[in-house]
Amino acid sequence: MINFLDLHKINNRFRKELEASFAQSLDTSYYILGPNVKTFETEFAHYCGTDYCIGTANGLDALTLILKGYIELGRLKKGDKIIVPANTYIATILSVLHADLEPILIEPNPDTYNISVEEVKANLDIDVKAIVAVHLYGQLAETEQLKTIANQHNLLLIEDAAQAHGAVTNSKIQGLNSKSQVSIANSQRLKAGNIGHAAAFSFYPSKNLGALGDGGAVTTNDKELYEAILLLRNYGSKVKYENEVVGYNSRLDDLQAGFLSIKLKFLDSDNSRRRDIAKRYLKEIKNSKLVLPFYDGSENHVFHTFVIEVEDREDFVNYLNKNKVGWLIHYPTPPHKQMALKRFSHLKLPITEQIHKRIISLPISPVLSDKEVNTVIEVINAY
Ligand SMILES: *Cc1c(COP(=O)(O)O)cnc(C)c1O
Repeated sequence: MINFLDLHKINNRFRKELEASFAQSLDTSYYILGPNVKTFETEFAHYCGTDYCIGTANGLDALTLILKGYIELGRLKKGDKIIVPANTYIATILSVLHADLEPILIEPNPDTYNISVEEVKANLDIDVKAIVAVHLYGQLAETEQLKTIANQHNLLLIEDAAQAHGAVTNSKIQGLNSKSQVSIANSQRLKAGNIGHAAAFSFYPSKNLGALGDGGAVTTNDKELYEAILLLRNYGSKVKYENEVVGYNSRLDDLQAGFLSIKLKFLDSDNSRRRDIAKRYLKEIKNSKLVLPFYDGSENHVFHTFVIEVEDREDFVNYLNKNKVGWLIHYPTPPHKQMALKRFSHLKLPITEQIHKRIISLPISPVLSDKEVNTVIEVINAY
């Protein structure tokens, strides 16, 4: 059996270091916002190229706290419209609802599955105040164009980078200037997390940088937003038992932060292994029943998942099961068709719906062996 994702194998590579980190936490007994969180925040900000990183309890909270932070700063207000992709994991949309903002669901570009720039333009109006760009499946959204739109219309550009740790823009692009405190003077290749005004990451175990439990982070160059989120994530408190704002409890666990520092060192080599596997799939899978993903060969994709399309998915799934090749569907039901979001169920989003019917994800991970890759390719070519 080829597992879709072998988390044990992924983390067992670091067994000694993880155990040592655990032993240190046990010895020092710093459990909450201890030195590991501080260290990881510094390292991850440095990795992304941002001035600031704030650890949070998970990715959904990271997204929500960005929006709540902007509300706290008066840059967003209740009921403002926020453009989000319809084709995403539901967390993106939930964060907007949790912040009492109004999500405007936008169709994807069917080639990349990421939010369509044309559709974003077509849906701009006076009440739209921000765009959330999801780098779906690990491939950066069309951030250069989205930045231009954000600059022209004075919108906030927020990245949902939960699937794209380490992805880098293809061409050199200009920093944002509208609402950011810091304007990046020269054009440069930017990493996910440093493209918009703020970005949210998840360290859910299966992500490219995954903890051994829940975790998340916000990255930004905006000092005011940084300070607002520092307060919000910790009961609105900087000094113990002094509460300045109505805050939350959404802290990155110190134990997880210790683990993440260990795994961060291997993120680039893991991503590079994922890209090598993806390149082999793209070159060697030859089957007219399947549509392979668009990839420009650059580092703007970290292949969190390798998603293909197939007309008769049920038949293909049965075939993979019979041949013991793992698979998953990201995701089986579009957010606007979920019970929780039934007030959006009337929306006509045919591209999103079509994608959800046809997609299936193949095994891809840094611990998938060449032999396993061979088998996946052979099995699929024989379908
Ligand atoms: C995983 C994920 C999230 C949420 O992360 P959690 O840590 O599970 O809360 C948000 N957005 C996207 C696109 C994700 O893939």
